[in-house]
Amino acid sequence: MLFCTQCGAPVERKIPEGDDHERYVCTACGEIFYENPLNIVGTVPVWEDKVLLCRRAIKPRKGYWTLPAGHQEMKETTRDGAARETREEAGIDFRIADEPLSGSYTNLYIASQFAL
Ligand SMILES: [Zn+2]
Repeated sequence: MLFCTQCGAPVERKIPEGDDHERYVCTACGEIFYENPLNIVGTVPVWEDKVLLCRRAIKPRKGYWTLPAGHQEMKETTRDGAARETREEAGIDFRIADEPLSGSYTNLYIASQFAL
């Protein structure tokens, strides 16, 4: 990020007063720009004794096998996002079990793709 989206002035990296993380801050209007993680949501589709995997058709990691997953949309629950991504990526009709979230983890490879 080079310029403020509010006024067009250059931004700088610094820790705003009262904060403990370095942020982009506008040098003119003081706007603070927060960078937050992007949630990837998906499912582990099981049919009989098998787990359904999808083969990636695009970069990154084209050709690799993966669980159906993708970016959570704004105003979408984790569960709804996981279901939508599974339908989009795998093209299957399915039912999400009435169990709570099965897991949450950090994929350092993906996280590094968004590092500044
Ligand atoms: Zn500004």
